[in-house]
Amino acid sequence: MTTIAIHPSVDHGVTAGVANFAGGTLTCHCAQDPVTVSIKGNVAHNHACGCSKCWKPKGALFSVVAVVSKDNLTVTANGKKLAVIDASAAIQRTACTSCGVHLYGRIENQAHPFYGLDFVHVELSAEKGWAAPEFAAFVSSIIESGAASPGEMNDVRSTLRALKLEPYDCLSPALMDALATHAAKTKGVLKA
Ligand SMILES: [Zn+2]
Ligand SMILES: [Zn+2]
Repeated sequence: MTTIAIHPSVDHGVTAGVANFAGGTLTCHCAQDPVTVSIKGNVAHNHACGCSKCWKPKGALFSVVAVVSKDNLTVTANGKKLAVIDASAAIQRTACTSCGVHLYGRIENQAHPFYGLDFVHVELSAEKGWAAPEFAAFVSSIIESGAASPGEMNDVRSTLRALKLEPYDCLSPALMDALATHAAKTKGVLKA
């Protein structure tokens, strides 16, 4: 197997999170007047994502993205530099207009199963102790975006498994079940 570079924060092994982690500050890449976002408490469902929309550092094959309650996220400096990338997307990814880094992605649709959660990249924080990535989502999407060729996928999946980031081609079973549960409740077909 050839080891494939996934993302700089996991390529040398996944670092475990710290229980009762207090949170920290995400900072964009601007050398001057960076946007800062403060997060209270830890993130959840941290994972590698192969979709084409999540922000990733230059050269990375996957993004690393987690969720936090929107009530625990506050823009603390230079928020005037922020703009929503695509207001029609379910997740309204909000980026620094100077450096392009995504500070958070918010779901504004109250009917969406993940309403109330913001999507964030903890690599933008200097603090250590954030919950570790647990799985890899939308793995096959890296072919669609042109980032990988089909022939590389065995090595990509083997590398993810070696990092204990189980590869899925959508979200993890727990999150897919949460989406399906929400859909079943909305339709009124959920069995007790
Ligand atoms: Zn910036
Ligand atoms: Zn993604």
